[in-house]
Order: sequence, then structure tokens, then C-alpha cells
Amino acid sequence: MRAAWCGEDKVTRGHTTTLFAQHGIPVILNAAGTLTRLSGAPLAPGVADAMAAADSASVDLFTLHAHASRVIAGATGAEAGLVTNGAAGGLLLAAAACMAGLDVGLMNSLPEGAAANEFIVARGQRNGYDHALRAAGARLVEVGLPEPLAGAGVRHAEPWEYAQAITERTAAIFYVASSGAEPSLAEIVSIARSRDLPVIVDAAAELPPQDNLRRFIAEGADLVVFSGGKALGGPAGSGILCGRGALVMSAALQCLDVDVHWRDWSPPADFVDKGRFDGVPRQGVGRACKTGKHEVMGLLAALDHFLSEDDATRHARWLAVCERIADNLKPRPGAATRIRGKDDPACVPRLEIAFETAEQAQREAERLLSREVPVHVARDHAAPQCLLVNPTCLREAEIPLLIAALGA
Ligand SMILES: *Cc1c(COP(=O)(O)O)cnc(C)c1O
Repeated sequence: MRAAWCGEDKVTRGHTTTLFAQHGIPVILNAAGTLTRLSGAPLAPGVADAMAAADSASVDLFTLHAHASRVIAGATGAEAGLVTNGAAGGLLLAAAACMAGLDVGLMNSLPEGAAANEFIVARGQRNGYDHALRAAGARLVEVGLPEPLAGAGVRHAEPWEYAQAITERTAAIFYVASSGAEPSLAEIVSIARSRDLPVIVDAAAELPPQDNLRRFIAEGADLVVFSGGKALGGPAGSGILCGRGALVMSAALQCLDVDVHWRDWSPPADFVDKGRFDGVPRQGVGRACKTGKHEVMGLLAALDHFLSEDDATRHARWLAVCERIADNLKPRPGAATRIRGKDDPACVPRLEIAFETAEQAQREAERLLSREVPVHVARDHAAPQCLLVNPTCLREAEIPLLIAALGA
């Protein structure tokens, strides 16, 4: 590692807290994890420096993104990649790419005008973030029933249900990756391949483990999105879209600024091959998902750091924070602590504080939020009597404050 996480640099930390104080913005303690509404994860070592350094000169944005594409391709095993303004932005662009392809006219008409605009998704994988697909003009076609979730059945969506839902209006299959997702991605890919359709995978929060950067592409996904502002430690407004070259080319053309005459436009051909387009499209449906050079260079620095730190080292770093808190915590009456995920380097270890009842846990969460510096902890909907301390967003100087708050 080149530098430490957790804001050990006192100058930086002092500057940051002073900055918020100058604006009268109260700070919080985030022990809940990399939640966007709590301002995301700390930047990985090297990211802030890269963003500042990116400010020192002007560059051509297509040239910059072409470079980022090669770096992302190397890290993911995909043909090409694009730095997006987040996983949700990546989903919007993925949908736009699957609907428009390299058709400049369709790029101009989205979110309307695509004859094939349907995206098949398991009903049990629907979630609020898939609004991003609809923003590009997608219509979601739900299949299956998440019966185990209802406690009234044993089956999730099944492969044949996806196959039956495919028509000439289908643009792609949409798949939300998670540890227990059913059917398997491999089964979905095999159906999609047989009908010549792309598969989009939302893997926003599936890092770590590091292997997942390559896994979904290796399993045959055509486009995969990751969040840059979660465990990667990139800018909160950053993400990765990676996959097939032609689809990434389409996505790039629908989000990068294209306010240029045809003859003056010379993007690197391995990223955007001018020869495959009838003309320069107008600003696309993804132009509202703009990323600048600061985000691109910040994301690349985060990716570089993520690849340089193996899962075991990352896990040990987080585990040490959990153990320090557990060892120094005077648990409140009736509460018991233990560390979850202690032996699994692929996960984020978390300190569990278990109460006797859900009501006690709720009251404790409210007490923590009502403190002068509000403390946010994570909850487990499957175990409502538990509060969880997620170490990923805690800076060094915040740990003693958190211990004091939890034990107060
Ligand atoms: C966090 C998340 C997103 C959104 O990611 P951003 O990078 O904040 O846009 C999308 N999908 C899933 C499953 C997520 O967990």
C-alpha cells in the first residue's frame, strides 16, 4: 500500500472537518457501510491525489476514456469499459446501448423509438435502482415469483420463464447479481445466447471479492456494472460499465459530449470506430450522466488500489477495526457482541451487537442517531434485534468516538 486509509493524515482530516464546519454542515459517524445517502465510502489511498492532479492540464475526453477503457478491460477481462457516474448511470447506459446499438438515429430518439425496448427481469430481482433502465426508455418485463420470500413456495423465477417471455420486442435480459441469486447467471446466459440477446448484470455492490471484477464477464455477461463509490473507494459519483466492445462503444457515444463536427472528430478507433457510424449523434440520453476527468482518474486510481490490496489484506484491515471496537466496548446491559464474517476473506466483517428484542435494538439505534454527532449503524432485516457496525467507512480518528458513543 502506498498510503494509509482512514484519514490518518491529520492535515487532510483537519482540513475536511474545518471545511464542513465553515459551511455549518454537521458531520456524522458512519458505521453503516458505503451508503450513498451517508456520503459514501472514504476515498482509497491515491484517489484524492489523482483527482487533484487531473486538474493540472486539459485533455481530450475521448482519448482519456479510451485509455480508461483499456485499463478496465485489463482489470475485468471484458473487451472494453467505461467510467460512469455510478452503477445506476451504468445501468441507464447499458439499457441505452442494448436498445440503440450503433444506430445514430436511435441514439437520438431514445428514450423513445426503439422497437425492441423490453428487458426481462426476475420479479424477485426488481429493486429501486432499476429505474435507471426505464430512464433510458426500457420497459421491464417481469417473470417468475419469489415464492421463498413470501414464505409460500419453494421456487424463484425459473429459466423457462425467461425463455417464454422473449419476443421480437426483447432488447436484453437484466440480472441482479447477489450471493444467492437464482437462476444462476450461467443458465440465463445460455438462454440469452440461444436467442442472440445480451445480458446486463448489476453487480454494483458485489466487490469484494476481487475475483468478482472478472467473474460475471467470465460467466458470459455482455455488460456488467460496478459502483465506484462503494468498496472500490473511488469518487462517490463514479462507477464502471464493462463488456462487449460494440455495446460499450454505443454507451460511450450516448454519454460523452459529442458537440463536434464530423470532420473535427477523431476518437481513438479501438474505443469508438468512426467508420461504424452514419454521423455524430446529438447529445445522448446518457449525457445527463456526465463524468469528467477528475472522476475518471479518481476511479482508475481506486481500481489500481483495489487490485493492489488482496482480499485477505483488505479483510484483515477491516477485521482489525471490528476487533478494536469489540475489545474496547463496554456493551450496554442485555447486549452481546460477536464478529460476523471473521473467517471469510471474501466478505466485509461486521461487529454484531445483539439485543434481546427488536424494540431494544430500535431504541438503541434511535439513541445513537440522536447524539450530538449522530451515529449511523447498519441493520439486519432478518435479525431485527441486532445492530451491525460496518467498518468500511470509519476513519482512524472516528473509531474512539464510535467506541465512546456505543458504550455511553
Ligand atoms: C448501490 C447500488 C446501485 C447504485 O450504485 P451507484 O454507484 O450509487 O449508482 C445499483 N444497484 C445495486 C444493486 C446497488 O447496491
